[in-house]
Amino acid sequence: MEMKIVRPKGPEIFDIELEKDLLAKNRGLAKENRKRLDRSKILAVDIMGSIGSGKTSLIKAILRKLGMGKKVAVIAGDLTTTIDAIRIEAEGARVIQVNTGKECHLDAHLIRQAIDRMKLDGVDVLFIENVGNLICPGEFPLGAHKRLVVTSVTEGPYTIIKHPYIFREADVIVLNKIDMAKPMKVNLSKLERDAREINPKASLIKTNALTGNGIPKVIEALGLKP
Ligand code: MG
Ligand code: ZN
Repeated sequence: MEMKIVRPKGPEIFDIELEKDLLAKNRGLAKENRKRLDRSKILAVDIMGSIGSGKTSLIKAILRKLGMGKKVAVIAGDLTTTIDAIRIEAEGARVIQVNTGKECHLDAHLIRQAIDRMKLDGVDVLFIENVGNLICPGEFPLGAHKRLVVTSVTEGPYTIIKHPYIFREADVIVLNKIDMAKPMKVNLSKLERDAREINPKASLIKTNALTGNGIPKVIEALGLKP
């Protein structure tokens, strides 16, 4: 059988201009956010990954390991629900929910509004849980100091190679739910090789967020060691 590949035609000039403008504006706002965070001596981490990859579970596991040593705040991005905010609040962190409505990613402007509304006095670390999506969040930096992408073996063997852009953006790549590799028949070393090839500089860590396996390494990679 002959395989047919359909590729998009060249976009119209107007669309390119609009997109460039939007991304440039976002980058400007992200820089302002970073300055504000630096002034308040807050380390911010942008947590990205698909729906169900374990972003919230990872944040919860980190909070549990950090204990009382650090004061943590969380911005939970979601289209419409508050489920994650409630799950994280249970760990004792200060949480603000950002509902994006139809937007499939957080942007620097939304983060600025969230920061404005949060009580950030005394906060050491701010986790930002992005909307579950492996495509556009990569293109919209928020001003965070570190960008982390979490992917789980339950997403199958091709998640990393099919989303090179976001994995290239990452400072830390987390391979989660490693206990499921065998039952899912996913080759973990192949996933590691894919990640290394796409982004040799990122810290690459295997975790099981539910048991806490690998979490100390994530904490270290984020520079959160007490
Ligand atoms: Mg979540
Ligand atoms: Zn989006």
